[in-house]
Amino acid sequence: MLAQIRQQIDRLQAQGASYVDARWVPLEESRYLLMWNGNLKENTSDRQSGVGVRVLYKGAWGFAASSDLSNLGALFDRALDNAQAAAQRVTFPVRLADKEAIQATFTSPCQIDPFSVPLADQIAFLQEMDGRMDRAGVQQRVGELSFVRKQVFFVDSEGSEIEKRITEVFSLLEILGKDDQGVAHERKFRLGRRGKSTRGWESIDAEVFGQEADRIVEELNQVLAAEDCPKDDRAVILLPGIMWLQTHETIGHPLELDRILGYELSYAGGSFVTLDDLGSLRYGSDKLTARADATLPNSPGSFGFDDDGVACQNTVLIDKGILVGAITGRQMVEEANARAGRQIFQGSGGCNRASSFYRVPIERMTNINVDPGQDGTLEDIVRDTEQGIILDGERSWSIGSNREQFHFATEIGWLVEDGEIGPVVKNPTYKGDTVLFWNSLSAVGDESTWEVGYVDNCGKGQPNQVMQLGHAVPVCRFDNVRIGE
Ligand SMILES: [Zn+2]
Repeated sequence: MLAQIRQQIDRLQAQGASYVDARWVPLEESRYLLMWNGNLKENTSDRQSGVGVRVLYKGAWGFAASSDLSNLGALFDRALDNAQAAAQRVTFPVRLADKEAIQATFTSPCQIDPFSVPLADQIAFLQEMDGRMDRAGVQQRVGELSFVRKQVFFVDSEGSEIEKRITEVFSLLEILGKDDQGVAHERKFRLGRRGKSTRGWESIDAEVFGQEADRIVEELNQVLAAEDCPKDDRAVILLPGIMWLQTHETIGHPLELDRILGYELSYAGGSFVTLDDLGSLRYGSDKLTARADATLPNSPGSFGFDDDGVACQNTVLIDKGILVGAITGRQMVEEANARAGRQIFQGSGGCNRASSFYRVPIERMTNINVDPGQDGTLEDIVRDTEQGIILDGERSWSIGSNREQFHFATEIGWLVEDGEIGPVVKNPTYKGDTVLFWNSLSAVGDESTWEVGYVDNCGKGQPNQVMQLGHAVPVCRFDNVRIGE
């Protein structure tokens, strides 16, 4: 098969294509289990295989994909036809940043293949967790398991040949209860990286999940009995369970280079960031260093090589508060440098990914992380806070169309007065202007507060591409934030 693909790539080059690549997925499998109030509500499996072909012809892309591999010639011809049609109306000819031709393999860390585990064992796990959450105050219980296993071959006309074997495991426990006014509240636990352990079925540790189930039941009951969150301005201390979303929505998405260039306008798709800002915008206080680190061990945002065939990298996005980088692929860095009239980017950041063989790769978050800081543990930060609120668990989010403002609701809040943790409050919310908010960052927790969370459902593109990634974030405190409205 690979020999046939190489042959087709050579044939299209002979016909005038300046670049050709193919992603062959012999098999991608997924399984999703959902238990709701003790009933197995969903048990779905999906298998797909095929080839996606990209062709660059006179500065225009053509793409074609098929599951039917019996006539590869026709598939490659269709991709070339599409590129030739597009070449007649191209406004900004595509150029690709230089890259190394790589021959390599990547295998994500996995000890126990989740597809080798009997379905009965997986259902038994969900039943055990359901029983554990079936306690006073809890009206709805949700347990989810989701697995992906895929093999991908990437071959291009520049001599790259890459094989990837990736296994993903995601899991969620979520509970919902109603307070005495009939208003619903929720609390959840999502699987993230524990230590540097691997991410196969072994990461579904019933003991750990059981403890987390107990914790969220206890916290939900505290929320149900709590007073409403006050409306005022105070410090907010974000735990990793909400800090990941803050990072995702107000650093990750606005720094995708295709958004900065105006190509991605769906799903609050624009960005307030301009090319002029790169290298000079004070995005946050000097306590903020953020990076796109696709080399972080054992996270869905680490995948070896992107779908341009570029090796994963650890790129600083914001250096001590100054915007210095973006989430990039080969095409957009060239266009950005040309439009800006200066060399902002030295090459691709290796962030171009497609959600499946039949989609084209676009700039996606890898692991968008905030470096741990010098301000100690959560206890240290609380002790240093006069009036604040600790927030955890995303509940709802709305974001300005260019990500310049945001409003988030969280599942739980703990008031902080004079350096002490006070009562739990319900319906906590906070809002802000992205750049002002990050500039109000006044404390960043140390490594003991730094957690790696997994995201399995980041949406982008039309048609929509759902992507998996990660966020490693510490506890962070922001000053003078409007809460409760
Ligand atoms: Zn997203």
